Amino acid sequence: MRGVTIAYSGPLRDERLAIELHNTVYAAGGAGVDALDDPAQTGAWLAAIAAREELAELPDGPEPSVGELRGLRTAVRSLVASVADGAAIDAEAAAVVNATCAAAPGVLRLELGPDRRPVRGTAFGGATRSDVLLAAIAADAVDLLTGPLRDEVRVCGAPGCVLAFVKTHPRRSWCSNGCGNRARQARHYHRVRGEQET
Ligand SMILES: [Zn+2]
Repeated sequence: MRGVTIAYSGPLRDERLAIELHNTVYAAGGAGVDALDDPAQTGAWLAAIAAREELAELPDGPEPSVGELRGLRTAVRSLVASVADGAAIDAEAAAVVNATCAAAPGVLRLELGPDRRPVRGTAFGGATRSDVLLAAIAADAVDLLTGPLRDEVRVCGAPGCVLAFVKTHPRRSWCSNGCGNRARQARHYHRVRGEQET
């Protein structure tokens, strides 16, 4: 699917990799959309994710299948929802993340760069591109959900929005400015209606 230049039409907002996978389920025009239902959109999403700096060392090879992406996404969505709620996490979801990480364990390498300058590299053994990409997303989930940002993982509460985000500054309450505006309009609407009814 690489080389296809159609744009991804869902939300990609420089969130963490695990959050971006979570957010391939989104709302558009009042309807739920699953980007993984559309092969072209799945390809566009994968191309955008593979271009991320943290995935600079992806080997060549086939992309993850929709089934593999869905399997990891189901686990990530369960874990993100639990953590955002401050609830206990599901052991099966954790097992999926762990198995995905284990499929492509990265070993740090000291590479010889131009003029034999030291360059950091990673060896993934016999892992495929798909293994490495999925493992990067799974490892990001581990890092995010157990690290200092764990308590900042949120599910957007704006009307109709199903996206997750990491609350990167104290005043951020919504996944996007658009959601913040809609939430304020909804509050205003309810306040005006409330006043009319009394
Ligand atoms: Zn939102």
